[in-house]
Amino acid sequence: MGLSKTIWASPSEYLRVVKPVDPVMFFAPSVLQDTARVFLDGFPGMVTYAVKSNPDEMVIQNLVAAGVQGFDVASPAEIAMIARLAPAAAMHYHNPVRARHEIAYAVSMGVKSYSVDSRSELAKLIELVPAEGTEISVRFKLPVAGAAYNFGAKFGATVELAVELLRKVADAGFIPSLTFHPGTQCTDPMAWDAYLRAAADICRMSEVKARRLNVGGGFPSHRLHGEVPQLEAIFALIARVADEAFDGAPPALVCEPGRGIVAESFVLAACIKGLRDDEHVFLNDGTYGSLDELPITGIIDRIIAVSPAGEARKGEIRPRVIFGPTCDSVDRLPGEVDLPADLQEGDYLLFSGMGAYSTATNTQFNGFGALSIATVMRLTD
Ligand SMILES: *Cc1c(COP(=O)(O)O)cnc(C)c1O
Repeated sequence: MGLSKTIWASPSEYLRVVKPVDPVMFFAPSVLQDTARVFLDGFPGMVTYAVKSNPDEMVIQNLVAAGVQGFDVASPAEIAMIARLAPAAAMHYHNPVRARHEIAYAVSMGVKSYSVDSRSELAKLIELVPAEGTEISVRFKLPVAGAAYNFGAKFGATVELAVELLRKVADAGFIPSLTFHPGTQCTDPMAWDAYLRAAADICRMSEVKARRLNVGGGFPSHRLHGEVPQLEAIFALIARVADEAFDGAPPALVCEPGRGIVAESFVLAACIKGLRDDEHVFLNDGTYGSLDELPITGIIDRIIAVSPAGEARKGEIRPRVIFGPTCDSVDRLPGEVDLPADLQEGDYLLFSGMGAYSTATNTQFNGFGALSIATVMRLTD
């Protein structure tokens, strides 16, 4: 990935001056720090950042500058990066399945917080991690909907197993905690309600007082014009329900958002390389590139079209099929997308809210995937 050293006023200034032929991600550090502060000021507990959603070093550095003091890491590479960029920050190693060499590496790097969702992985942790001062959070799952896709399909113990694991964690001398992830882009706050009450049940049934309760990521970002995320309402619900469920004495709360913190600070500009017979839009980026996530999580409808001169197209709205640049027919954005009818070849489509699961999952498939990041003062004109 190429890195621009210049700070531009806005995406349209860059497009006008540079006329990029490859896709560009515009990053506004001010937007990232503002969003981080919404979490730091509003969430009733510790705010950590899930590195996998966007591991760009500028993102990590700006989060540290904004006051984020913990990171959810999932691999030795993420641990090494956080140790280098944020040496004072806490690392929560919350990938519940790890190879033995990965555990040994985390121990050598001083990681003091792990998650677990099975007997076999807990046995590995007990064998390889010194218990003294180390937290193990039991990750549990519920059959609740509300998110863009279901994380419980891969990770999480049932409530019954979580009761057993929490007991075992405490008996082995570790600090017992609980964690869950309601699923990414979770727009239904009642998912947290159900999880918080189940967490209290698990503590009662196991007769173990959890030190901390991590309520996951899953905080929604602004994808659809008509659906503005209600972060403050979710924070208020979490505070109220945790208090109710634990009879006024809840564990210390932690959250680990990825998308909710980083998405809004990036805008993607993809160029229209062909407007096939004035019908189908072919972009220079697609589902093997920065738009990788859209077939799973659904479209982002916050898209504007900009001419090469940096002017927004204002024509009547016309729905179009959008394809990516590769020769694979699944390289297509979901459904049809409303775009101005006066669209031209060479125009740029600007996708808002593109900071999460975009730069990190960009592939080089079919010879595409060149992507640069340009830093901007603001994301709109
Ligand atoms: C991916 C992940 C997150 C972040 O999820 P978002 O939906 O991006 O907020 C948080 N915690 C864990 C354990 C994860 O795997």
